[in-house]
Amino acid sequence: EVVLKQITKAFQSQNAVKGLDLVVPDGSFTVLVGPSGCGKSTTLRMIAGLEEATSGEILIGEQPVTHLPPGKRDVAMVFQNYALYPTMSVYDNIAYGLRNRGYSKKECQQRVGEIAEVVGLTPYLTRKPAQLSGGQRQRVALARAMVKKPQVFLMDEPLSNLDAKLRNQMRVELTSLHKQLGSTFIYVTHDQVEAMTMGDQIVVMNEGQIMQVAAPMELYLEPENLFVAQFIGSPP
Ligand code: ATP
Ligand code: MG
Repeated sequence: EVVLKQITKAFQSQNAVKGLDLVVPDGSFTVLVGPSGCGKSTTLRMIAGLEEATSGEILIGEQPVTHLPPGKRDVAMVFQNYALYPTMSVYDNIAYGLRNRGYSKKECQQRVGEIAEVVGLTPYLTRKPAQLSGGQRQRVALARAMVKKPQVFLMDEPLSNLDAKLRNQMRVELTSLHKQLGSTFIYVTHDQVEAMTMGDQIVVMNEGQIMQVAAPMELYLEPENLFVAQFIGSPP
C-alpha cells in the first residue's frame, strides 16, 4: 500500500502539487491520468524519492518514507526514455539493479536469466541498447526494475516512445505482467484510453489536484464533475 497524506510540491513559488490525499491499495494497477503539466510526474517522483515533498507525508507499506532517499524505498521506477546505459550490454543493464546488494555472480546470472525469460529478452542479453528496437529497450527498462523485486513499480509514460501497434501489444503485456507479479503498479499517462483499459483504479488529476478516484466504469458512468466527464468522454 502507498499512502499520500496532504502532499504538496512547490517549485520556486508555484505549487505543482496541491495537497494530494491518495491510497494506492496493495496489488492494484493504479493509473494517474490528466492533462500535460497537471503534476503526474512530480507526484510519481515524490513517491520514488527523486523529488522531496514540500509538505505532507508518504508511506510505503506502512513505513514513513517522506524523507528517505530513493535507494531506501522499496520501489523501482521505469522512465519514459528508458534511461539505459548505452555502453553496457543488456545483461549488465538488467544486473545493474542488483549491484551493491551482495548477490554472488551466480545468483545474479540466475536472477537476470529468469527475468529475461519473462520479458522475452533471452536472445538479446549480449547486445548493446543501440542494437535493440524501441519495444526491446522498453523491456530492458522493465527488466531492470523487476530484478529488484520491488513492492511498488512506478512507471512514467513508459510506452509513449512506441508506435501505436507496439504500444497496444505492450499494454497487454504489462497488464499480464502485473497479474503475474502481484505487485503494486502506479502508472502515469496522459492518454485516457490507456488509463481506462489498463487501470483498476484511476486517479484523474488537474492543476495539481485530484478530481476523482474510481474504477474505470464508475469514472465513465458516474463522473463527479464536469472536468472528469469531459476528460474521460462520458456520455452526457
Ligand atoms: P506531462 O503530461 O506533460 O508529463 P505532468 O502532469 O507530468 O505533465 P509535471 O511534470 O509533474 O506534469 O509538472 C507539473 C508542473 O510543475 C508543471 O507546471 C511544470 O512546469 C512544473 N515543474 C515540474 N518540474 C519542475 C522543476 N524541476 N522546476 C520548476 N517547475 C517544475
Ligand atoms: Mg510527466
